[in-house]
Amino acid sequence: MTTTTETGVLAARFQETFDAAADGVWQAPGRVNLIGEHTDYNEGFVLPFAIDKTAKVVLRVRDDSRVRMLSTFGGHGVVEADLADSEPGSGEGWSRYPLGVAWALKERGIEVPGFDLLLDSDVPSGAGLSSSHAIECAVISALNELTGAGFAAEDLVLATQRAENVFVGAPTGIMDQSASLRGSKGHAVFLDCRDQHVELVPFDAEASGLVLLVIDTKVSHSHADGGYASRRASCELGAGILGVKALRDVGVERLEEASGLLDETTLRRVRHVVTENDRVLQTVEVLGTEGPAAIGTLLDASHVSMRDDFEISCPELDLAVDTSRANGAIGARMTGGGFGGSAIALTPVGQEQQVRDAVVRSFAKAGFTAPDIFTVTPAAGALRLA
Ligand code: ADP
Ligand code: MG
Repeated sequence: MTTTTETGVLAARFQETFDAAADGVWQAPGRVNLIGEHTDYNEGFVLPFAIDKTAKVVLRVRDDSRVRMLSTFGGHGVVEADLADSEPGSGEGWSRYPLGVAWALKERGIEVPGFDLLLDSDVPSGAGLSSSHAIECAVISALNELTGAGFAAEDLVLATQRAENVFVGAPTGIMDQSASLRGSKGHAVFLDCRDQHVELVPFDAEASGLVLLVIDTKVSHSHADGGYASRRASCELGAGILGVKALRDVGVERLEEASGLLDETTLRRVRHVVTENDRVLQTVEVLGTEGPAAIGTLLDASHVSMRDDFEISCPELDLAVDTSRANGAIGARMTGGGFGGSAIALTPVGQEQQVRDAVVRSFAKAGFTAPDIFTVTPAAGALRLA
């Protein structure tokens, strides 16, 4: 959790860099998806939560349309841009995220002035925890307030999606920013991706004597690559043949019929989405009745489905999951879009060290890059710190 001191240090760094006082400090978290993978763009259900790792932005609006941005991470120095000529495809590296959300607000008719911005994030980048959305959600929260736009969270979610899809060019859904903007301490965000309906579901692993370990495999993933696009295409094909608007409208009871209508690959892709939606609903129910200790088999089944049917896992993720399970985790799965990134392992507190050690050993033995392992807890969504 951020202390006032940390916020003060950042504000001082801002003053030093831009020779002006900041208007405020905002933060937005990364997210972990507990369950519900590749269901978002099928208008289905997801169950992510905001994590206790955040992007903080210190920001002040300017009198002109210039933008100056500095991240405490990496040696890129101050990046400059101008909102007057910032358009989809423009900008480089991380500057596309602040510029993208500014563009998306302008598209909604908001007069967005230039700004100076200092970014400080401890959301690991490229680990599948949505460090990019953490940046976007922190910046859009700041601009939403400072421009007086006053949009509700649902609108900010859609504006952020426009920023990612059109400005940055990443074909992402609404899950990540919904968790980041609408998350709540001690809760998972049960999101219906069809209508943005949100239900906060108590998810207090700690109270059940469990920790949620994140195992960052360090294998880089990219949403923009062919794997993601081809999965989306298969889902659309399957929905078309089954005569529904989206796979969300296919229940598990139709899978047998589907097997006679779809080619083998499309059937497996469809089966993942249909069963995964069902697992999300079951997880929400089980969390309500029995609590976190009872969701292990659902997490395991989700991983198997992604590994075998959707084929988006990789050897490092499989090893992280299998080793965690063999050493005391009660459930484990890859999380995020796949092809790399992180796995999660729901683990009894007493087994945590054993799981950590075993995963590190197994990666070394396999000749994989050493993973980064840490715990996350469900934390608050985007908010103003100062
Ligand atoms: P993910 O969102 O899963 O972490 P992405 O590839 O979507 O992965 O986003 C990672 C990008 O976000 C990085 O390439 C970088 O441009 C940007 N980024 C993340 N954290 C920071 C940071 N602290 N400073 C600057 N840029 C960052
Ligand atoms: Mg991202």
